[in-house]
Amino acid sequence: MFSPEKVEAIIRDVLAGNEGFLSLHEPTIAAREKELVNDCLDSGFVSSVGQYVALFEQQLADFLGVRHVVAVVNGTAALHVSLLLAGVGKSDEVIVPTLSFIATANAVSYCGAIPHFVDSNELSLGLDTAKLEGYLADILLFDAGRWINRKTGRRVAAIVPMHTFGHPVDMDALNIVAKKYCLPVVEDAAESLGSRYKGMMTGSLSLLGAISFNGNKIITTGGGGAIATNDTVLARHARHITTTAKVPHRWAFNHDAVGFNYRMPNLNAALGCAQLERMPAFLVDKRKLAERYRQAFAGEDKVRFFTEPDYAESNYWLNALLFDESVADQRDEVLSLTNDAGLMTRPVWVLLHTLPMFKTCPAMEDLSVSKSLEKRLMNIPSSPFLLRQDADA
Ligand SMILES: *Cc1c(COP(=O)(O)O)cnc(C)c1O
Repeated sequence: MFSPEKVEAIIRDVLAGNEGFLSLHEPTIAAREKELVNDCLDSGFVSSVGQYVALFEQQLADFLGVRHVVAVVNGTAALHVSLLLAGVGKSDEVIVPTLSFIATANAVSYCGAIPHFVDSNELSLGLDTAKLEGYLADILLFDAGRWINRKTGRRVAAIVPMHTFGHPVDMDALNIVAKKYCLPVVEDAAESLGSRYKGMMTGSLSLLGAISFNGNKIITTGGGGAIATNDTVLARHARHITTTAKVPHRWAFNHDAVGFNYRMPNLNAALGCAQLERMPAFLVDKRKLAERYRQAFAGEDKVRFFTEPDYAESNYWLNALLFDESVADQRDEVLSLTNDAGLMTRPVWVLLHTLPMFKTCPAMEDLSVSKSLEKRLMNIPSSPFLLRQDADA
């Protein structure tokens, strides 16, 4: 029988042996981080000039299997610049899932563009590509070499899939739809560093990928982000406009565009280099913790532990429980019991299309899956160190 108390007890049991308040996702900082950050401090190069930025970019590019990485101040800035580079401009519309973190839609707004909200599916918690294909066929009109939203008359300029909690969207299917309408794809891979789609790293599966290294993400640089791309011209442009569009010169301050001061400081990159070294171990530990949760909830029929789609290997950035419709109204009781017990849990985000600044934006009429997921999803503690070694056996 389902009861909120039982759900709380199962989570508590999986996490037994840990002490204090357990956050959703805490950074793991060890000696190596301190060593590299101290080295950076000693060098005096703490700002955007210094060897750690280039090193971090190279190591991340190798990890992702992409040609270029440009490190920036945060994931939102990475998305903003990626959208600009993809050609998104004033009064364009950009397809984004309504089930996402606010940054996805904010970045669209920073370009002077308008988010156009679409539905997700229950397999990946990300963009429903089949539904999107039918929808685009319905609303798009080819006019003067551009795909126009026939209802608003505005150009649709890009698609931004987001890999929710680390679970990859079906990118092959999405790329086919995007290609049909010549729409560039920018991956919001902020949550999915280390997740694989058919063996390939998320963030590397489209024109540009945006990654976040905020304190709660799988690895952190304090605050930080990165743009990943295989396109050499775009990478050069990304580096240029995130460095105030300064024309390289030994002394002259010459700028050829309105650029941004978005480059990642060396100090943050030093932390990132140490974190990247440890990431493979984080990924292993996180998958073990996810497996423990999965087993612990395997006997429940009204609540299940959300697992990766079969085409993917997820990083399980934030573990999630999915409640059955019949008990969805008891989710908040579980939230309250767990938080009272020192186990941090959170409901999924409020759907973006309902927020005051976005509620007049275009949206798919049928957002039923997102609306259902909004009521049924809950995140549970996910830090890689939570599964104690002694609990391994
Ligand atoms: C964290 C996150 C971002 C933005 O990252 P910041 O580094 O916090 O700016 C963007 N999109 C999604 C889905 C995120 O979870």
